[in-house]
Amino acid sequence: MAFGDNKLGVHALCWVGGWSETEARRAIEGTARVGYDLIEIPTLDPDTIDVGMTKRLLEEYKLAGTLSLGLSPDMDISGSDPEAAKRGEAELMKVVAIARDLGASHITGILYSGFTKYNQPATQKGLEQSVTILRRVCEAALPSNITLGMEVVNRYETNILNTAAQGVAFCEMVGVPNAKVHLDCYHMNIEEADAEQAIIQTGDRLGYFHTGDSHRGYLGSGSIDFIPIFRGLARIGYAGPITFESFSSEVVDAKLSNILGIWRNLWTDGEDLVRHAKAFTEAQITSAAATLRLSSHQPKGVLQNG
Ligand code: MN
Repeated sequence: MAFGDNKLGVHALCWVGGWSETEARRAIEGTARVGYDLIEIPTLDPDTIDVGMTKRLLEEYKLAGTLSLGLSPDMDISGSDPEAAKRGEAELMKVVAIARDLGASHITGILYSGFTKYNQPATQKGLEQSVTILRRVCEAALPSNITLGMEVVNRYETNILNTAAQGVAFCEMVGVPNAKVHLDCYHMNIEEADAEQAIIQTGDRLGYFHTGDSHRGYLGSGSIDFIPIFRGLARIGYAGPITFESFSSEVVDAKLSNILGIWRNLWTDGEDLVRHAKAFTEAQITSAAATLRLSSHQPKGVLQNG
C-alpha cells in the first residue's frame, strides 16, 4: 500500500440522517454506485445500529465500513465523574463489538473526551484517565485488527486534542499500535499553524483522514488550500482511508447536526456533492503524487547531458 492506493470514503450523513434499513440501503447503494470504497457510519447511538442488516448491505454492495462517534458529556472518560467514565468505557467497548461483528476496519472520532464545548481546560488527571481507558479499548480491538483513530478537532468540540502534535503525544501515551491519529482538514484549518507540517510531523502515526472545506460544503468551494494538505499526505506516504465529510441542513441527524452546528443549507443534492468530492480528491491525489515525483527526480535536460 502506498499513497494513491488510499480507500476513499464518504460519511453517511451526506445521504441520510438515520439508519433504518431503507436509509442504510440508500446510503450504502449510493456510496457504492458513485464508486467509493467505504462508508463511514456514525454510531453516536450504537443501539440504533442493526448490525446484521448493515453487514448484509455492506456485503451486497461490496463496500467497506468504518464507524465514528463522539462520546456524550455524560460518558466523558476525561472528566472527574467516575460513573461517567465507566459509562464511556462501556460505550467504547460496545462500539468495538459492533466493529468486530461488522468487519469494520476503523473506529474514529472524539473517543477520548465528551463531544462538546468545554468551559474549562482539560486536567492532567483527566487526560491520564482517558489514556488508561483507551489503552484497554485499543487492546480489546487489537485482535480484530480494528484501528482507533483519535480525531483531532477544534476547540469548540473538545478540550483534549486540538492539534496534531497533541494527537501524536496522546497515542504515544496509549502505547498500543492500533492507537492512531485521525486528522481532519476542516479542524486543522482552525487550529494548525501549518497543515502540511502538521501532517508531516504526524507521519506514520496518521491512521485516518477526513476531508472537508472551511464551511463543510462542496470541496474547493471554501477557503481551504488543499494543495499543501495532499502534498503532506504524499510526502509521508499516507496509504490509509481518506473520507469526505460534509453537512447541510438538507440532511439532519438530530444529535450530530446539532452538536456540529449545522444551521445552514450548503447543498441540496447529496449525490452530486459526493460525486464531485470523489473527482476532486482523486485530482488532488494525482497532483500531489506528481509533485513528489518531480521534486525527487533529477530533470533530464541539456545540463545533465553535457
Ligand atoms: Mn471529521
